[in-house]
Amino acid sequence: MSETFGSRDWCLWCKSTSMAKAREFAFAEKPGGPAETVYVCSEACERELDTAMKMVQKGKPIFLWSLLVMVLMTILGIGLGMAVAYHLMAVMAVGIVGFGLVTPQTILMLGMRKGLSVGRVLGVVLVLMGIGTALLPFFTQPK
Ligand SMILES: [Zn+2]
Repeated sequence: MSETFGSRDWCLWCKSTSMAKAREFAFAEKPGGPAETVYVCSEACERELDTAMKMVQKGKPIFLWSLLVMVLMTILGIGLGMAVAYHLMAVMAVGIVGFGLVTPQTILMLGMRKGLSVGRVLGVVLVLMGIGTALLPFFTQPK
């Protein structure tokens, strides 16, 4: 991963290549975990990246736990022959795609700012689908 991110040629955050005033940023996946040096183009980008990293670090465990709960609910739903299980599977699929998008590859392609926005949009879709699924039994007539 060190070669993936540690480029001095472009800003990890906004993908700008004007790196005359490049700044170093200690990029760690976990708080207090091993950090690597990445580069951003300006102080503003450094601040935004810092904020975003803190959000990602906080959001990751929540996301993984909710995914686990959804997996369990789906297994339970299938066991009970619930139609809701299929909707939960769809929600999970969106979640996995959304999570998979915020990968080093995507960040390299889009820059981190865009990569995270895409992930966030999918996160909102995921939440809406989850709420929809939870409310579904109230709208469908039992057969
Ligand atoms: Zn930048």
